[in-house]
Amino acid sequence: MDHITGAWRRTAAGAGLLRPDGSVASTIFAEMTALATATGGINLGQGFPDEDGPREVLEAAREAISAGANQYPPGLGLLELREAIGEHQRRFYGLDVDPATQVVVTAGATEALASALLALVDGPDDEVVVFEPYYDSYAACVALAGATLRTVPLRWPGFQPDLDELAAVVNDRTRVILVNDPHNPTGAVFERDVLEEIVRLAHAHDAVILTDEVYEHLTFDVPHTPIATLPGAWERTLTISSGGKTFRTTGWKIGWISGPTDLLTAVLTVKQYLTYTNGSAFQPAIAVGLRLPDAFFAGIADDMKRKSGILGAGLRAAGLAVSAPRGSYFTVADASSLGAVDAADFCRGPLAEAGVVGIPITAFTTPERRGEYATLIRFAACKRTEVLDEAAARLAALAR
Ligand code: PMP
Ligand code: GLN
Repeated sequence: MDHITGAWRRTAAGAGLLRPDGSVASTIFAEMTALATATGGINLGQGFPDEDGPREVLEAAREAISAGANQYPPGLGLLELREAIGEHQRRFYGLDVDPATQVVVTAGATEALASALLALVDGPDDEVVVFEPYYDSYAACVALAGATLRTVPLRWPGFQPDLDELAAVVNDRTRVILVNDPHNPTGAVFERDVLEEIVRLAHAHDAVILTDEVYEHLTFDVPHTPIATLPGAWERTLTISSGGKTFRTTGWKIGWISGPTDLLTAVLTVKQYLTYTNGSAFQPAIAVGLRLPDAFFAGIADDMKRKSGILGAGLRAAGLAVSAPRGSYFTVADASSLGAVDAADFCRGPLAEAGVVGIPITAFTTPERRGEYATLIRFAACKRTEVLDEAAARLAALAR
Protein backbone atom coordinates (compact mmCIF):
# COMPACT_ATOMS: atom_id res chain seq x y z
CA MET A 1 0.00 0.00 0.00
CA ASP A 2 3.05 2.26 -0.10
CA HIS A 3 1.90 3.75 -3.37
CA ILE A 4 -1.29 4.98 -1.72
CA THR A 5 -0.18 8.25 -0.25
CA GLY A 6 -1.35 11.79 -0.75
CA ALA A 7 -4.87 12.87 0.04
CA TRP A 8 -6.06 9.91 2.10
CA ARG A 9 -3.01 10.06 4.34
CA ARG A 10 -3.28 13.83 4.72
CA THR A 11 -6.97 13.49 5.48
CA ALA A 12 -6.53 10.75 8.04
CA ALA A 13 -3.80 12.79 9.72
CA GLY A 14 -5.97 15.94 9.58
CA ALA A 15 -8.79 14.06 11.26
CA GLY A 16 -6.43 12.68 13.90
CA LEU A 17 -7.07 9.16 12.62
CA LEU A 18 -3.58 8.17 11.52
CA ARG A 19 -1.99 5.82 14.07
CA PRO A 20 1.78 5.90 14.64
CA ASP A 21 2.08 2.66 12.61
CA GLY A 22 0.40 4.35 9.64
CA SER A 23 -2.91 2.52 9.92
CA VAL A 24 -6.19 4.40 10.05
CA ALA A 25 -8.47 4.38 13.10
CA SER A 26 -12.25 4.88 12.85
CA THR A 27 -13.79 8.23 13.74
CA ILE A 28 -14.39 8.91 17.40
CA PHE A 29 -18.14 8.74 16.76
CA ALA A 30 -17.95 5.25 15.30
CA GLU A 31 -15.64 4.12 18.11
CA MET A 32 -17.81 5.45 20.91
CA THR A 33 -21.06 4.18 19.41
CA ALA A 34 -19.47 0.74 19.10
CA LEU A 35 -18.37 1.02 22.75
CA ALA A 36 -21.94 1.83 23.81
CA THR A 37 -23.27 -1.11 21.82
CA ALA A 38 -20.66 -3.51 23.23
CA THR A 39 -21.08 -2.42 26.87
CA GLY A 40 -24.81 -1.63 26.94
CA GLY A 41 -23.81 1.93 27.81
CA ILE A 42 -26.12 4.90 27.29
CA ASN A 43 -24.80 6.61 24.20
CA LEU A 44 -24.40 10.30 24.97
CA GLY A 45 -21.46 10.31 22.56
CA GLN A 46 -22.53 10.47 18.93
CA GLY A 47 -25.05 13.26 18.50
CA PHE A 48 -28.20 11.73 17.07
CA PRO A 49 -31.75 11.90 18.46
CA ASP A 50 -33.44 8.73 19.70
CA GLU A 51 -36.94 9.85 18.68
CA ASP A 52 -38.53 10.38 15.30
CA GLY A 53 -39.09 13.88 13.95
CA PRO A 54 -42.38 15.49 12.97
CA ARG A 55 -45.03 13.16 11.56
CA GLU A 56 -45.76 15.45 8.56
CA VAL A 57 -42.12 15.27 7.49
CA LEU A 58 -41.89 11.48 7.74
CA GLU A 59 -45.21 11.10 5.97
CA ALA A 60 -44.10 13.37 3.13
CA ALA A 61 -41.10 11.13 2.44
CA ARG A 62 -43.30 8.02 2.36
CA GLU A 63 -45.70 9.75 -0.01
CA ALA A 64 -42.87 10.91 -2.24
CA ILE A 65 -41.60 7.34 -2.60
CA SER A 66 -45.11 6.12 -3.43
CA ALA A 67 -45.53 8.94 -5.93
CA GLY A 68 -42.39 7.82 -7.78
CA ALA A 69 -39.80 10.38 -6.59
CA ASN A 70 -37.14 7.71 -6.86
CA GLN A 71 -34.75 8.94 -9.55
CA TYR A 72 -32.01 11.60 -9.54
CA PRO A 73 -33.26 14.98 -8.43
CA PRO A 74 -31.79 18.03 -10.27
CA GLY A 75 -28.13 18.83 -9.56
CA LEU A 76 -28.99 22.01 -7.65
CA GLY A 77 -31.65 20.15 -5.66
CA LEU A 78 -35.41 20.03 -6.07
CA LEU A 79 -36.76 23.53 -6.81
CA GLU A 80 -39.49 22.97 -4.21
CA LEU A 81 -36.84 22.48 -1.51
CA ARG A 82 -34.73 25.40 -2.69
CA GLU A 83 -37.84 27.59 -2.55
CA ALA A 84 -38.61 26.35 0.95
CA ILE A 85 -35.03 27.18 2.01
CA GLY A 86 -35.43 30.68 0.54
CA GLU A 87 -38.73 31.16 2.42
CA HIS A 88 -37.10 29.90 5.62
CA GLN A 89 -34.20 32.35 5.34
CA ARG A 90 -36.66 35.20 4.81
CA ARG A 91 -39.07 34.11 7.59
CA PHE A 92 -36.46 33.64 10.31
CA TYR A 93 -33.66 36.02 9.32
CA GLY A 94 -35.01 38.51 6.78
CA LEU A 95 -32.49 37.28 4.21
CA ASP A 96 -33.37 37.39 0.51
CA VAL A 97 -31.99 34.22 -1.06
CA ASP A 98 -32.85 33.52 -4.70
CA PRO A 99 -33.78 29.82 -4.94
CA ALA A 100 -32.79 29.75 -8.60
CA THR A 101 -29.17 30.85 -8.20
CA GLN A 102 -28.25 31.17 -4.52
CA VAL A 103 -29.03 27.75 -3.00
CA VAL A 104 -27.59 24.29 -3.62
CA VAL A 105 -28.92 21.17 -1.87
CA THR A 106 -26.18 18.81 -0.67
CA ALA A 107 -25.73 15.37 0.87
CA GLY A 108 -25.89 16.72 4.39
CA ALA A 109 -23.94 19.64 5.77
CA THR A 110 -20.93 17.35 5.48
CA GLU A 111 -20.91 17.45 1.69
CA ALA A 112 -21.53 21.19 1.67
CA LEU A 113 -18.46 21.67 3.89
CA ALA A 114 -16.31 19.35 1.81
CA SER A 115 -17.36 20.89 -1.51
CA ALA A 116 -16.85 24.43 -0.27
CA LEU A 117 -13.41 23.74 1.17
CA LEU A 118 -12.28 21.80 -1.90
CA ALA A 119 -13.56 24.61 -4.12
CA LEU A 120 -12.10 27.52 -2.20
CA VAL A 121 -8.65 26.37 -1.08
CA ASP A 122 -5.81 24.72 -2.88
CA GLY A 123 -2.46 23.86 -1.39
CA PRO A 124 -0.47 24.69 1.72
CA ASP A 125 -0.25 28.44 1.09
CA ASP A 126 -3.99 28.71 1.54
CA GLU A 127 -5.03 28.91 5.17
CA VAL A 128 -8.35 28.01 6.73
CA VAL A 129 -9.08 29.47 10.16
CA VAL A 130 -11.26 27.36 12.45
CA PHE A 131 -12.28 27.67 16.07
CA GLU A 132 -10.85 24.91 18.22
CA PRO A 133 -12.19 22.47 19.38
CA TYR A 134 -13.85 21.89 15.99
CA TYR A 135 -16.19 19.40 14.38
CA ASP A 136 -13.96 16.61 13.13
CA SER A 137 -14.67 16.85 9.41
CA TYR A 138 -13.28 20.41 9.28
CA ALA A 139 -9.67 19.41 9.81
CA ALA A 140 -10.11 16.35 7.59
CA CYS A 141 -11.45 18.40 4.67
CA VAL A 142 -8.79 21.09 5.06
CA ALA A 143 -6.23 18.29 4.89
CA LEU A 144 -7.98 16.75 1.89
CA ALA A 145 -7.69 20.09 0.11
CA GLY A 146 -3.98 20.11 1.02
CA ALA A 147 -4.44 23.47 2.73
CA THR A 148 -3.15 24.71 6.11
CA LEU A 149 -5.33 24.64 9.22
CA ARG A 150 -5.02 27.58 11.61
CA THR A 151 -6.94 27.50 14.86
CA VAL A 152 -8.30 29.97 17.39
CA PRO A 153 -8.91 28.42 20.82
CA LEU A 154 -12.26 28.48 22.59
CA ARG A 155 -11.55 28.12 26.29
CA TRP A 156 -13.48 26.43 29.04
CA PRO A 157 -15.98 27.30 30.40
CA GLY A 158 -17.38 30.13 28.23
CA PHE A 159 -15.86 29.05 24.91
CA GLN A 160 -15.95 32.52 23.29
CA PRO A 161 -12.85 33.34 21.24
CA ASP A 162 -10.48 36.08 22.34
CA LEU A 163 -10.72 38.79 19.69
CA ASP A 164 -7.01 39.59 19.77
CA GLU A 165 -6.13 35.94 19.28
CA LEU A 166 -8.56 35.79 16.39
CA ALA A 167 -7.09 38.89 14.77
CA ALA A 168 -3.58 37.50 15.21
CA VAL A 169 -4.42 34.31 13.30
CA VAL A 170 -6.25 35.79 10.30
CA ASN A 171 -3.83 37.11 7.67
CA ASP A 172 -3.53 37.63 3.91
CA ARG A 173 -3.10 33.88 3.32
CA THR A 174 -6.43 33.21 5.01
CA ARG A 175 -8.82 32.09 2.28
CA VAL A 176 -11.63 30.87 4.53
CA ILE A 177 -12.79 31.64 8.07
CA LEU A 178 -14.87 28.62 9.05
CA VAL A 179 -17.47 29.40 11.69
CA ASN A 180 -19.75 26.96 13.50
CA ASP A 181 -22.50 28.72 15.40
CA PRO A 182 -24.14 27.30 17.55
CA HIS A 183 -20.99 25.36 18.18
CA ASN A 184 -20.22 21.66 18.24
CA PRO A 185 -18.69 20.40 20.54
CA THR A 186 -18.95 23.22 23.12
CA GLY A 187 -22.58 24.41 22.93
CA ALA A 188 -21.36 28.01 22.63
CA VAL A 189 -23.31 30.63 20.70
CA PHE A 190 -20.97 33.34 19.48
CA GLU A 191 -21.50 36.86 20.79
CA ARG A 192 -22.37 39.56 18.29
CA ASP A 193 -18.98 41.26 18.68
CA VAL A 194 -17.28 37.99 17.68
CA LEU A 195 -19.38 37.75 14.52
CA GLU A 196 -18.65 41.42 13.74
CA GLU A 197 -14.92 40.89 14.16
CA ILE A 198 -15.02 37.89 11.83
CA VAL A 199 -16.72 40.02 9.16
CA ARG A 200 -14.21 42.83 9.67
CA LEU A 201 -11.25 40.46 9.35
CA ALA A 202 -12.74 38.73 6.30
CA HIS A 203 -12.95 42.13 4.59
CA ALA A 204 -9.51 43.23 5.70
CA HIS A 205 -7.87 40.06 4.36
CA ASP A 206 -10.26 39.25 1.52
CA ALA A 207 -11.34 35.93 3.01
CA VAL A 208 -14.57 33.99 2.54
CA ILE A 209 -16.71 33.22 5.59
CA LEU A 210 -17.99 29.66 5.59
CA THR A 211 -20.56 29.18 8.31
CA ASP A 212 -22.00 25.90 9.56
CA GLU A 213 -25.33 26.59 11.24
CA VAL A 214 -26.80 23.10 11.52
CA TYR A 215 -27.94 23.86 15.10
CA GLU A 216 -29.62 27.14 14.06
CA HIS A 217 -32.95 26.20 15.65
CA LEU A 218 -31.48 24.80 18.86
CA THR A 219 -30.56 27.87 20.90
CA PHE A 220 -31.61 28.42 24.50
CA ASP A 221 -33.14 31.85 25.18
CA VAL A 222 -30.77 33.56 22.74
CA PRO A 223 -31.67 34.30 19.14
CA HIS A 224 -29.61 32.69 16.40
CA THR A 225 -27.87 35.33 14.29
CA PRO A 226 -26.65 34.06 10.92
CA ILE A 227 -23.39 35.82 10.20
CA ALA A 228 -24.68 36.44 6.65
CA THR A 229 -27.17 38.96 8.11
CA LEU A 230 -24.41 41.26 9.41
CA PRO A 231 -23.67 44.41 7.40
CA GLY A 232 -21.20 43.66 4.62
CA ALA A 233 -21.20 39.91 5.23
CA TRP A 234 -23.54 38.47 2.59
CA GLU A 235 -21.33 38.96 -0.47
CA ARG A 236 -18.48 36.94 1.07
CA THR A 237 -20.42 34.38 3.13
CA LEU A 238 -21.53 30.84 2.35
CA THR A 239 -24.09 29.55 4.85
CA ILE A 240 -24.54 25.84 5.47
CA SER A 241 -27.36 24.06 7.24
CA SER A 242 -29.06 20.70 7.26
CA GLY A 243 -32.38 19.07 8.01
CA GLY A 244 -30.74 16.46 10.25
CA LYS A 245 -30.86 18.27 13.59
CA THR A 246 -33.97 20.40 13.07
CA PHE A 247 -36.19 17.52 11.90
CA ARG A 248 -34.45 14.65 13.74
CA THR A 249 -33.56 13.02 10.44
CA THR A 250 -29.78 12.74 10.70
CA GLY A 251 -29.80 9.61 8.52
CA TRP A 252 -31.46 11.36 5.59
CA LYS A 253 -28.46 13.59 4.87
CA ILE A 254 -30.26 16.52 3.31
CA GLY A 255 -28.21 19.68 3.72
CA TRP A 256 -27.84 22.95 1.83
CA ILE A 257 -25.54 25.83 1.19
CA SER A 258 -26.57 29.35 0.25
CA GLY A 259 -24.78 32.53 -0.67
CA PRO A 260 -23.76 34.75 -3.58
CA THR A 261 -23.93 33.08 -6.99
CA ASP A 262 -20.21 33.35 -7.86
CA LEU A 263 -19.10 31.58 -4.68
CA LEU A 264 -21.87 29.03 -4.96
CA THR A 265 -20.96 28.23 -8.56
CA ALA A 266 -17.46 27.32 -7.41
CA VAL A 267 -18.94 25.02 -4.76
CA LEU A 268 -21.26 23.42 -7.30
CA THR A 269 -18.39 22.54 -9.62
CA VAL A 270 -17.02 20.28 -6.88
CA LYS A 271 -20.32 19.06 -5.47
CA GLN A 272 -21.51 17.78 -8.86
CA TYR A 273 -18.59 15.33 -8.91
CA LEU A 274 -18.96 14.16 -5.32
CA THR A 275 -22.50 12.83 -4.94
CA TYR A 276 -24.00 14.78 -7.90
CA THR A 277 -27.38 14.52 -6.13
CA ASN A 278 -29.05 12.57 -3.33
CA GLY A 279 -32.27 11.97 -1.45
CA SER A 280 -34.98 12.42 -4.10
CA ALA A 281 -37.77 11.43 -1.69
CA PHE A 282 -36.26 13.17 1.33
CA GLN A 283 -35.85 16.55 -0.34
CA PRO A 284 -39.60 17.27 -0.66
CA ALA A 285 -40.08 16.04 2.91
CA ILE A 286 -37.52 18.51 4.25
CA ALA A 287 -39.34 21.22 2.26
CA VAL A 288 -42.47 20.32 4.25
CA GLY A 289 -40.44 20.58 7.45
CA LEU A 290 -39.03 24.01 6.62
CA ARG A 291 -42.58 25.26 6.10
CA LEU A 292 -43.86 24.06 9.51
CA PRO A 293 -45.31 26.80 11.74
CA ASP A 294 -43.12 28.88 14.06
CA ALA A 295 -44.44 26.92 17.04
CA PHE A 296 -42.63 23.79 15.83
CA PHE A 297 -39.27 25.59 15.75
CA ALA A 298 -39.83 27.22 19.15
CA GLY A 299 -40.84 23.80 20.50
CA ILE A 300 -37.64 22.02 19.49
CA ALA A 301 -35.52 24.75 21.08
CA ASP A 302 -37.50 24.52 24.33
CA ASP A 303 -37.26 20.74 24.31
CA MET A 304 -33.49 20.78 23.81
CA LYS A 305 -33.04 23.41 26.54
CA ARG A 306 -35.01 21.23 28.98
CA LYS A 307 -32.98 18.16 28.06
CA SER A 308 -29.69 20.04 28.39
CA GLY A 309 -30.86 21.06 31.85
CA ILE A 310 -31.51 17.45 32.86
CA LEU A 311 -28.14 16.37 31.50
CA GLY A 312 -26.30 19.25 33.19
CA ALA A 313 -27.97 18.54 36.55
CA GLY A 314 -27.04 14.85 36.29
CA LEU A 315 -23.42 15.67 35.52
CA ARG A 316 -23.20 18.17 38.38
CA ALA A 317 -24.75 15.71 40.80
CA ALA A 318 -22.03 13.26 39.80
CA GLY A 319 -19.42 15.78 40.87
CA LEU A 320 -18.38 17.19 37.49
CA ALA A 321 -18.04 20.86 36.63
CA VAL A 322 -20.30 21.63 33.69
CA SER A 323 -20.35 24.32 30.97
CA ALA A 324 -23.46 26.42 30.37
CA PRO A 325 -24.41 25.63 26.76
CA ARG A 326 -26.52 28.24 24.94
CA GLY A 327 -27.32 25.98 22.01
CA SER A 328 -26.71 22.72 20.10
CA TYR A 329 -27.02 19.18 21.44
CA PHE A 330 -23.91 19.41 23.58
CA THR A 331 -22.72 20.04 27.13
CA VAL A 332 -19.07 19.92 28.18
CA ALA A 333 -18.05 18.53 31.56
CA ASP A 334 -14.68 18.66 33.29
CA ALA A 335 -13.83 15.26 34.75
CA SER A 336 -10.73 16.45 36.64
CA SER A 337 -12.81 16.75 39.82
CA LEU A 338 -13.27 12.96 39.63
CA GLY A 339 -9.56 12.42 39.31
CA ALA A 340 -9.44 12.17 35.51
CA VAL A 341 -6.15 13.19 33.95
CA ASP A 342 -6.96 12.13 30.42
CA ALA A 343 -10.62 12.27 29.36
CA ALA A 344 -10.10 9.69 26.60
CA ASP A 345 -8.94 7.15 29.20
CA PHE A 346 -11.75 8.22 31.52
CA CYS A 347 -14.36 7.73 28.75
CA ARG A 348 -13.06 4.28 27.87
CA GLY A 349 -12.59 3.33 31.56
CA PRO A 350 -14.60 4.63 34.55
CA LEU A 351 -17.30 6.36 32.51
CA ALA A 352 -17.97 3.32 30.31
CA GLU A 353 -17.95 1.13 33.43
CA ALA A 354 -20.60 3.38 34.94
CA GLY A 355 -22.66 2.68 31.81
CA VAL A 356 -22.46 6.04 30.02
CA VAL A 357 -20.60 6.96 26.85
CA GLY A 358 -19.24 10.46 26.15
CA ILE A 359 -16.65 11.87 23.76
CA PRO A 360 -13.32 13.33 24.92
CA ILE A 361 -12.96 16.89 23.65
CA THR A 362 -9.43 16.04 22.55
CA ALA A 363 -11.08 14.25 19.59
CA PHE A 364 -11.88 17.76 18.31
CA THR A 365 -8.50 19.42 18.81
CA THR A 366 -5.11 19.70 17.15
CA PRO A 367 -2.34 17.62 18.76
CA GLU A 368 -0.60 20.85 19.85
CA ARG A 369 -3.53 21.99 21.99
CA ARG A 370 -4.62 18.58 23.30
CA GLY A 371 -3.21 19.35 26.77
CA GLU A 372 -5.49 22.37 27.21
CA TYR A 373 -8.58 20.19 26.78
CA ALA A 374 -7.29 17.00 28.38
CA THR A 375 -9.97 16.50 31.03
CA LEU A 376 -13.04 17.74 29.13
CA ILE A 377 -15.83 15.48 27.86
CA ARG A 378 -18.69 16.21 25.45
CA PHE A 379 -22.12 14.78 26.27
CA ALA A 380 -25.12 14.89 23.91
CA ALA A 381 -28.53 15.75 25.35
CA CYS A 382 -30.61 14.83 22.28
CA LYS A 383 -32.13 11.77 23.97
CA ARG A 384 -35.51 10.91 25.54
CA THR A 385 -36.09 12.22 29.06
CA GLU A 386 -36.11 8.73 30.56
CA VAL A 387 -32.78 7.96 28.89
CA LEU A 388 -31.26 11.14 30.33
CA ASP A 389 -32.70 10.31 33.77
CA GLU A 390 -31.21 6.83 33.59
CA ALA A 391 -27.86 8.32 32.51
CA ALA A 392 -28.01 10.67 35.51
CA ALA A 393 -28.67 7.72 37.83
CA ARG A 394 -25.70 5.83 36.38
CA LEU A 395 -23.45 8.90 36.56
CA ALA A 396 -24.30 9.23 40.25
CA ALA A 397 -22.24 6.07 40.79
CA LEU A 398 -19.15 8.07 39.81
CA ALA A 399 -19.64 10.40 42.77
CA ARG A 400 -19.52 7.56 45.30
N1 PMP B 1 -21.59 20.24 11.21
C1 PMP B 1 -21.76 20.05 12.52
C2 PMP B 1 -21.31 21.11 13.46
C3 PMP B 1 -22.32 18.87 12.98
O1 PMP B 1 -22.48 18.68 14.29
C4 PMP B 1 -22.71 17.89 12.06
C5 PMP B 1 -23.24 16.54 12.48
N2 PMP B 1 -24.04 16.47 13.45
C6 PMP B 1 -22.53 18.13 10.72
C7 PMP B 1 -21.96 19.30 10.33
C8 PMP B 1 -22.94 17.12 9.69
O2 PMP B 1 -24.25 17.34 9.28
P1 PMP B 1 -24.96 16.35 8.27
O3 PMP B 1 -25.36 15.15 9.02
O4 PMP B 1 -26.13 17.15 7.75
O5 PMP B 1 -23.98 16.04 7.19
N1 GLN C 1 -22.49 15.37 14.21
C1 GLN C 1 -22.69 14.32 15.14
C2 GLN C 1 -21.82 14.57 16.35
O1 GLN C 1 -21.09 15.50 16.42
C3 GLN C 1 -22.37 12.98 14.52
C4 GLN C 1 -21.22 12.99 13.64
C5 GLN C 1 -20.82 11.69 13.01
O2 GLN C 1 -21.23 10.62 13.41
N2 GLN C 1 -19.94 11.81 12.06
O3 GLN C 1 -21.92 13.79 17.25
